[in-house]
Amino acid sequence: MDLGIKGKRALVCAGSKGLGRGCAEALAAAGVDLVLNARGAEALEATAAAIRAAHGVTVTTVAADITTEAGRAEVLKAAGAVDILVTNAGGPPPGVWSDWTRDDFIKALDANMLTPIALMTALLPGMIEAGWGRVINITSQSVKAPIAQLGLSNAARTGLTGYVAGTARQVAPQGVTINNLLPGIHDTDRATALDAGVMKAEGISADEARARRAATIPARRYGTAAEFGAACAFLCSVHAGFIVGQNILLDGGATNATI
Ligand code: NAP
Repeated sequence: MDLGIKGKRALVCAGSKGLGRGCAEALAAAGVDLVLNARGAEALEATAAAIRAAHGVTVTTVAADITTEAGRAEVLKAAGAVDILVTNAGGPPPGVWSDWTRDDFIKALDANMLTPIALMTALLPGMIEAGWGRVINITSQSVKAPIAQLGLSNAARTGLTGYVAGTARQVAPQGVTINNLLPGIHDTDRATALDAGVMKAEGISADEARARRAATIPARRYGTAAEFGAACAFLCSVHAGFIVGQNILLDGGATNATI
């Protein structure tokens, strides 16, 4: 399917690895030029080089922490006007409700709620002026079904979801869509880190921890970054203009809900 977005320009945040990279790759495969961000320059440059070589698109890199004001300023300066924005950042650490302090919540809100909101605030006006735009926020399955030990994530991402629900309806008349992609367990460094937590807590091997988590998913496997990226690229396509303010689960059926 021709996604109809060849020649458009996208900012993909936190995109040197994992799900962000999956989105960057799929957009590049559709002919989209990229501004790609992550903190670590080495992995970022390696990913950018691989994408340029595979897809022949322009990839501008900005090594910066997207959750800081200075980092965002640097990224936004390099990005200029974009047609597509993919927001992403690392997720908050797991823990127990009784340990979380105000500072922990502020950090989580900053990273996973206020950062995507700041990026939308900066970039939506240009999309509205152009009469076309796409925003995809990478959130989490935890928005639909809480993951107890990820309370900081549950809280911050639910806040973002509420913001998107209203804002998506305010910008839709100008041809701009905002949607959230909700990953369940995907095969990335983040998933490996969570596997390691299970391994330690239960005193089992890495393979056993992974097998136990995979067994909780009806698809009986982890998702891939490529599958995730393909869904992102479709939502950014010309065909997805009627999909507004949705929260789309990519979880292999793990969230046991009818709707
Ligand atoms: P990942 O494999 O660890 O990749 C994270 C990417 O984000 C890397 O490129 C990393 O590069 C970059 N990054 C992290 N913090 C950043 C920051 N502050 N500023 C700029 N770049 C940053 O993680 P993932 O699995 O793709 O997860 C992406 C998001 O989806 C996370 O918020 C995660 O909580 C959420 N999620 C993931 C899963 C899953 O199963 N994978 C499930 C539910 C939700 P640098 O470290 O070099 O900055």
